[in-house]
Amino acid sequence: MNQEIIGRFAPSPTGRMHLGNVFAALLSFVDAKSRGGKWLLRHEDLDPQRSRREYALQVEDDLLWLGLRPDGEPEYQSNRFHLYEESLDRLRRAGMTYGCTCTRADILATQAPHQSDGRVIYGGRCRPSSLPCFAPEPETKHSVRLYVPDREIRFTDGLYGPQAVNLARECGDFIVRRADGAWAYQLAVVTDDALMGVNRVVRGSDLLLSAAQQIYLYELLGLPAPEFMHIPLLCNAQGQRLSKRDKSLAMDILRRDFTPEKIIGLTAYLCGLAPTDEPISLSAITELYATRSLTPTLTVSL
Ligand SMILES: [Zn+2]
Repeated sequence: MNQEIIGRFAPSPTGRMHLGNVFAALLSFVDAKSRGGKWLLRHEDLDPQRSRREYALQVEDDLLWLGLRPDGEPEYQSNRFHLYEESLDRLRRAGMTYGCTCTRADILATQAPHQSDGRVIYGGRCRPSSLPCFAPEPETKHSVRLYVPDREIRFTDGLYGPQAVNLARECGDFIVRRADGAWAYQLAVVTDDALMGVNRVVRGSDLLLSAAQQIYLYELLGLPAPEFMHIPLLCNAQGQRLSKRDKSLAMDILRRDFTPEKIIGLTAYLCGLAPTDEPISLSAITELYATRSLTPTLTVSL
């Protein structure tokens, strides 16, 4: 069966894009387009405090400047809360969720051994003694957590290869709806990717663990999981992951000092598709991607 590839780029509209975001956008675009697929845009504006519509519009403008035109109208997660509600209902009906009244301090006090990367693992204080659990959630303010099993979730990443993740050990029961009513990232992303028909996800390697959480959610919701390919995060000359603090690599400066072809050429070079960072066109990088494999180096100094 020759299924049409549907990829996507899903930025959070909380500021101007930087080179790291552009890198992920470009690679997800060429990944889909090199195989005749579609490329969708979804603004992940779940956090009403930090998300701004003007940032989303700026992202769209920056993508168009690069020549990255999404297929169809961009989606906004803030328009899709009713869909997340339906997913949560399905998890509740399966008896796989429970209300958690722990504060952040409670969780820090009872968590399993500290993770070196600062991840906090929920120790299971509110977890029901047996599952499935259909007990009503507490009347008081609470988040909703999803039970995770003590077994390995296996998948093959397009770049990092075979992965086996035990969610009980790596993250513990995770939140699907926050105590303030906000939707958690994992539930929203799985619901959206499934309903938008996305079958190929290319994104930064900081989300590699999330892929295991998401595959588990796809299983529970009876939805097909996409193929995943995670790409290393760009680092600055000091070896730190690029962030909004790297002002020289923010899109306003990039657009002032470089052409789209220069940025595309740099991307091709950084991920090992081209021997130098000479400017190239979008169709040239798409062709390179179709015929070569990625061998990222990924330290950048401009
Ligand atoms: Zn709790």
